[in-house]
Amino acid sequence: MMPYFVKKTHPSARTAHPHQSAGAILPKRIYFAPYQLAVMMAAWRRACVLCHQSLSVRGLICQACQASIPTQLPPVSVALNEAGGALRIFALSYYQHPMNALITQFKDHERIDALVALVALIRTLPKPLHCTADNTVIVPVPTTMSRMRERGFNPVLILAKYLAVHWGIPLWQGVLRQDGERHQRGLDRQARLQNPSADFYLAAPVPTRQVIIFDDVVTTGATLAAMAELIKGVQPQVRLLGICLAHGTAEFGLHTR
Ligand SMILES: [Zn+2]
Repeated sequence: MMPYFVKKTHPSARTAHPHQSAGAILPKRIYFAPYQLAVMMAAWRRACVLCHQSLSVRGLICQACQASIPTQLPPVSVALNEAGGALRIFALSYYQHPMNALITQFKDHERIDALVALVALIRTLPKPLHCTADNTVIVPVPTTMSRMRERGFNPVLILAKYLAVHWGIPLWQGVLRQDGERHQRGLDRQARLQNPSADFYLAAPVPTRQVIIFDDVVTTGATLAAMAELIKGVQPQVRLLGICLAHGTAEFGLHTR
């Protein structure tokens, strides 16, 4: 009889990884994310998480809802400082209905039904080519302790965990954020552009040669660019890619520089 679950070799169990720096330990691959039971329950109910129509096949979202949300957007490029080149950012969708509402409901009100819908959409994201658990980590845009105290949870980290489970790529939280910075929401575009790097620092060297920087919403790309510049400044050989749930709108996309 075939086993239902094939036991996979844990990446960190292997020795002498060619891309690991001395002493660095590749983060553990994760198989479960917070609220995973809610996601499993929603799949078991067989009703679309957006329109609540019943589904004929196992899943979270119906084909009509799926088709109404633009995905597979062309990537945008954000210029990096000095020799950094540019960071390519892929967005799951545009920051417009229903993405904006789902993100707000989850981030600001910890609505689990909104998270389940976002997870359904995250599962449509194709895995970038040549990214494996051995050569890539997902780095979520970090939050500060004061913001954690204010919110009580870290929505970007939770969403990043679902992406990590979906792609089978480990999460790495070695980029940290200085406390005491101004909240970017509420600042205008000019102020955001003038308020980039310096807020981030590396707690350890990046353990892989490729990094996927993840955020929920990208407006100017300044936050992802600042993290990319930090990593490139320390380890110029690391290849970087940005992934976000939403950017701009269909009419007003992110400006490519
Ligand atoms: Zn639906």
